[in-house]
Amino acid sequence: MSLEEYKGVWVFLEHRDGQIVPVSLELLGAGRQLADKRGVPLAGILIGDRVRPLCETAFQYGADQVYLYDDPIFADYRTESYMRAVIACVQKHKPETILYGATSTGKDLASAVATDLETGLTADTTMLDVEQETGLLQASRPAFGGNIMATILCKKHRPQMATVRPKVMKALPPDPERRGEIIAESLPLREQDIRTKVLKIIRETQSKVRLDEADIIVAGGKGLGSKEGFQLMHRFAEAIGATVGASRDAVEAGWIDHAHQVGQTGVTVTPKIYFAIGISGAIQHLVGMQNSGLIIAINKDPQAPIFQSCHYGIVGDAFEIVPLLIEAFQSAVGK
Ligand code: FAD
Repeated sequence: MSLEEYKGVWVFLEHRDGQIVPVSLELLGAGRQLADKRGVPLAGILIGDRVRPLCETAFQYGADQVYLYDDPIFADYRTESYMRAVIACVQKHKPETILYGATSTGKDLASAVATDLETGLTADTTMLDVEQETGLLQASRPAFGGNIMATILCKKHRPQMATVRPKVMKALPPDPERRGEIIAESLPLREQDIRTKVLKIIRETQSKVRLDEADIIVAGGKGLGSKEGFQLMHRFAEAIGATVGASRDAVEAGWIDHAHQVGQTGVTVTPKIYFAIGISGAIQHLVGMQNSGLIIAINKDPQAPIFQSCHYGIVGDAFEIVPLLIEAFQSAVGK
């Protein structure tokens, strides 16, 4: 394989309900930086049915080009059809790097493409950089249970690929004046060539906790001692209009559902304010909340590692401090 033949940075543009999903816009922001450092174009790869208008969004968020597969056969995501489109496009245009959101779709597609192309894929990346001279992607992610950050390189194969967690990279502010080039692609794919059929899409009716969209999160940990103790988090969250988050240990103790877990094996969050209460500050927790605007930690152990990663730290017992905060807030707003 001649690595020099491969040029350009691509972002797989995932879309849902007629819109590009936020993580793909974030990746256009990250991809823009990589492409600029290398002096190459940034392209999106967009696959779907009647999705052409989304190319404009991609241009506004930083793409120079979009490779477009617009065909009814791509109406629903199916691994087989989408991977064949990506692979055909890669073989034709030879990108150096491809980024995917670490969503169910992105992870499924990226691993299928990597296997078929026999190239490398770094999963759940949290930092990206590129060697200016060689174009070698430096994809970093927590490894060995989060105890170290590993930077993973793909030295011998192209394209080099990574999935990136939502909310880790920053989207550029959209520029409505920005234009780009649409490169229409097609694939001679027939319905009978695809083994999977989408019979019905059943949407979840239960309202899900949207931790990743919350402005204020009150997260509780093992330090709250019991399910009853954890109720204090709900009272605090209600008082200040926050969403409740939790450490894995609190979830594993059965005090709250996994949907509320923040961290490496939970949700990555970036609220304006994050309260970490009775949480020690393990790296696996920190990777999920360290980009919050303001981090306030309450812990009775002055040596707790969370105090190294917060903006304000309160050393003390959560059961004394949180009721005082609730009271202070309620009297401030006149309740
Ligand atoms: P602890 O570490 O037990 O800390 C409790 C803290 O509460 C202590 O600092 C203590 O001083 C304080 N405390 C006790 N009583 C009080 C009180 N009355 N008032 C105030 N403070 C008090 N963890 C996550 O959170 N999210 C993840 O996604 C995640 N993924 C993981 C993935 C892997 C592969 C592995 C190996 C681990 C993962 N973990 C994750 C677990 C992580 O390593 C820690 O074990 C976990 O975050 C600890 O939770 P904690 O801080 O609630 O509990």
